[in-house]
Amino acid sequence: MPSEPHTPGRQAAKTELFLDAAQRAAAYIGSSHERGVFPTEEALRGLDRFPTELNDAGIGADKVVAMLDEFGSPATVTSTGGRYFGFVNGGTDPAASAASVLLGAWDQNTALPVMSPVGARLDEIAARWSLELLGLPDTAIAAFCPGASVANLTCLIAARDALLLRSGWNVDERGLAGAPPLKVVASEEIHASVAKALRAAGIGTDQVVSAPTDECGRVRADLFPTVDETTIVLLQAGNVNTGHSDPFLKLIPGLRRRGAWVHIDGAFGLWAGASETQRRHTDGAELADSWATDAHKWLNASYDCGIAICRNPDDLRRAMAFSAAYMDSDAERAGAHLGLQMSQRARGAEIWAILAGLGRKGVADLVHRLCRRAEQMASLLDEAGVTVLVPPALNQVLVRFDDDETTEAVIAAVQKDRTCWAGGTVWQGRRAMRISVSDASTTPEDIAVSAEAMVRCWNRVAAGPGTTSE
Ligand SMILES: *Cc1c(COP(=O)(O)O)cnc(C)c1O
Repeated sequence: MPSEPHTPGRQAAKTELFLDAAQRAAAYIGSSHERGVFPTEEALRGLDRFPTELNDAGIGADKVVAMLDEFGSPATVTSTGGRYFGFVNGGTDPAASAASVLLGAWDQNTALPVMSPVGARLDEIAARWSLELLGLPDTAIAAFCPGASVANLTCLIAARDALLLRSGWNVDERGLAGAPPLKVVASEEIHASVAKALRAAGIGTDQVVSAPTDECGRVRADLFPTVDETTIVLLQAGNVNTGHSDPFLKLIPGLRRRGAWVHIDGAFGLWAGASETQRRHTDGAELADSWATDAHKWLNASYDCGIAICRNPDDLRRAMAFSAAYMDSDAERAGAHLGLQMSQRARGAEIWAILAGLGRKGVADLVHRLCRRAEQMASLLDEAGVTVLVPPALNQVLVRFDDDETTEAVIAAVQKDRTCWAGGTVWQGRRAMRISVSDASTTPEDIAVSAEAMVRCWNRVAAGPGTTSE
C-alpha cells in the first residue's frame, strides 16, 4: 500500500519545493557580484529571526527554505562574488554548484561501490584525472576526503605505519607504545593543520625537528636537518602567507635516498602543477611519497573536499582498510577502505563534474588566471605605495601598511568597507594583510575596485581619527 508521502499531491509539493530552492539558489549566485562581501549589521541582526525554540510540530519544509533564504542569505559571507580574499577560501565553480544540486538529490554513499555504482565510477575517473593534472605518478592512489587537514592526517598515518613496519614493528598489532622512535623533520613554516595532524597521529612535538626557512617561507636546503630511514619529512607546496613552495627538486631525491618518507602539504599550491606557467613552483613535487591537497580551495569545489594521495597504494590501504563482515570489499577503490570515513558523499562525482566541465585547458587557465590576478593586485598596491612584503607567488599577496598599528586598522577598515574582504596575519614578527585570490570568478575589475578600496581605507586610517565619515 503506498504510504501517504507518495501521493501525487505530495509529489507536486516536493517538486515545487525543489524548484523554489533552486530558484533561490540561482538568484543568490546571480547577485553575488553585486552584494557587499561581508554581511551588514542589519543582516547580522536578521539572524535573530531564526526560531530558537524547537517547535513540536515543525514549521514545514517550504517555510524552512524561505527562512534560510530570507534570514540566512543576506548574512552569508560572499565567497562566490570575486572579491573575497580571506584565508584560502575558494568560490564555487558553476558546474560544481549546479551538479551538487543533483548530487544532493542522488544521496549517494560512496563507502563501497555496491552502495553507489555511479559514485564509484566517477570517483575512479576523478582520482585518475586529478593525478594527471597535479603531475603526480599515475601509479599513485588518490582518495577524496573532507579536506587537506584530514588528507595530511591520513598520509601521516600511512607514513608512520609504513616506516615502523620497515623497522619490523606492526602498528596494527602492537600499537604505538614501545614502538621504535620516529623522527619528524618539518618546515618551520608548516601549516597549523599539519601540527594538529601530528598530534592526532601520536607524534609529539619532542619528536619534531624544525627545518629553517628563508625570507619567503621556503625551507633552506643548505640548513636541512639530517634524516634517515626512520624520518618523516613534511614539506609544503604553497605557503599560506606567501604562496612560495619548498625547493622539492633540490631536496627530495637526497631525502628519499636516505630512506626518509617525504610528505607534501599542498592544500592549494599543488595545483600549480596543472598550469604550464606555474608548474615551476612545484617542480620535483612528484618525487615525494605522499601529498595532501584540497579541491575546495583553488579548484573551487564545494565544501568539504580534499585529496589524500600516496605513491604506494598499499601504504594507504594498510593504514585505512578495515574489516567488518558486512562491509568487506574486494573493489580496487572503496572509499571506506581508503580514508578515515566510512559513509561519505560522492565527492569524486563533483570533482568529475568540475574537471569534465573545464577540461585540461580550463583547469590550467583557472590556475594561471588567478596567479595573474594576484600579480595585478600586488602591482596596483605597490604603485599606491603599499609595502608588498615578499615577491608574490601563485595566488597569494602579502602586504603591510606602514606599521603594525596602521596595518591592523586598515584590515579592520577593509573588512568593514564590504567592497572586498582580506584577513590579517603575522609574517616574520610583523603584522600583515593576506590577499588570497582563490575564487575562479574574480575579474580584473574585481581586483581594481578591491585594490582601490584598500588604498582608500589606508588613506582614511592614515588621515587619523575624526576624519572617518561614519
Ligand atoms: C587550508 C590549508 C590546510 C588545511 O586544509 P583544510 O582543507 O582547511 O582542512 C593545510 N595546509 C595549507 C597550506 C592550507 O592552505
